[in-house]
Amino acid sequence: MTRHQTIGIAEALIARENRLGASNYKPLDVVLTRGQGVYVWDVEGRRYLDCLSAYSAVNQGHCHPKILAAMREQAARLTLTSRAFRNDQLAPFYEELCALTRAHKVLPMNSGAEAVESALKLARKWGYRHKAIPDGRAEIIVCANNFHGRTISIVGFSSDPASRDGFGPFPPGFVTVPFGDAAALEAAITPNTAAFLAEPIQGEAGVIIPPPGYLKKARELCTRHNVLFILDEIQTGLGRTGTLLAEEHEGVEADLTLLGKALSGGFYPVSAVLSNTEAMSVLHPGEHGSTFGGNPLGCAIARAALKVLVEEDMIGNAARVGAQLKAALAAIPAPQVKEVRGVGLMIAMELHADAGGARGLCEKLMARGLLVKETHDHTVRIAPPLILSPREAGWIAAQVRAALLG
Ligand SMILES: *Cc1c(COP(=O)(O)O)cnc(C)c1O
Repeated sequence: MTRHQTIGIAEALIARENRLGASNYKPLDVVLTRGQGVYVWDVEGRRYLDCLSAYSAVNQGHCHPKILAAMREQAARLTLTSRAFRNDQLAPFYEELCALTRAHKVLPMNSGAEAVESALKLARKWGYRHKAIPDGRAEIIVCANNFHGRTISIVGFSSDPASRDGFGPFPPGFVTVPFGDAAALEAAITPNTAAFLAEPIQGEAGVIIPPPGYLKKARELCTRHNVLFILDEIQTGLGRTGTLLAEEHEGVEADLTLLGKALSGGFYPVSAVLSNTEAMSVLHPGEHGSTFGGNPLGCAIARAALKVLVEEDMIGNAARVGAQLKAALAAIPAPQVKEVRGVGLMIAMELHADAGGARGLCEKLMARGLLVKETHDHTVRIAPPLILSPREAGWIAAQVRAALLG
């Protein structure tokens, strides 16, 4: 055997990646080459059940055949026109997205962070035009431990030092309140408050579920004080929590709803701001845009991604199998586990601070064919594609049990 053959394919790829790439991630050392449904395969042929789903971007499962077919067909026909011209995929995309979410207007973008930035711009302009906030004084209230993306303005109102430190100066006009505390929100509202921005469940913070009634109370406060209620459903949306949008759990409707990630089933970056108010009407030609936003390829992919989500009852499946999986995980009698929490298939297992850290558990699970990722030091998020079967849920719980107790 030559020396080249003795160096693993994965090790060689990892070394090249590390040598040439920015080191802004610390991935598990598994090099994936193929995915189908809930499974992915590494370059050495090992199969894993994907319990991260690209941070909930592949809710529909890897390489869904119907989304793939839509992508192939559209890619061969027309991919990008820019918004200087119209394309025949945009209107049906708007129609289908609005019908599904009961939204009135759509602003199409690409990444999640762009949808967040767009909503911040809309909220500020709405505040000046409709609320007569003095120029340059608009305030937007955000929550501690939020995650809304990585742009300068977004990390400027992050409370995570790693996300924020070294990237200032930041745009002013953001006020932080504790998540889940309606009284703190009310106390922070001033005549200059344009909007309140929150995640219905904080994903990157470790699946933090607010107290029951919080979103309802926030909705009431925003209505009473004429403040736009912006829900970032980029991670919680599109079936992840067992309803199309997480706001449905409390029967509320945000003024602006942000979607991304699973809007394309993981094939392509597609995001959107949905509006139920006059907020969207503050934008006029030339005031905002994106070269790729609303492009025909992205629209065709998103249409297929939404269609399979509904047609294949992935949302109902997330509710049913999610409840089963959470119960099975909670039943594991492991002293390391502090709490298992979640809604639908957005589940987290938090370990005690002295239990050796979540990274070690992720590595043990990887050796057992299950891919998960730690979020912060002590929490493992378990968020498989929404097509997970009851049998696969049982298998996941068995692996976690063996990794914790073995
Ligand atoms: C992932 C995420 C974003 C950012 O999306 P990108 O596509 O990575 O820019 C924003 N908000 C939430 C809640 C997210 O989970």
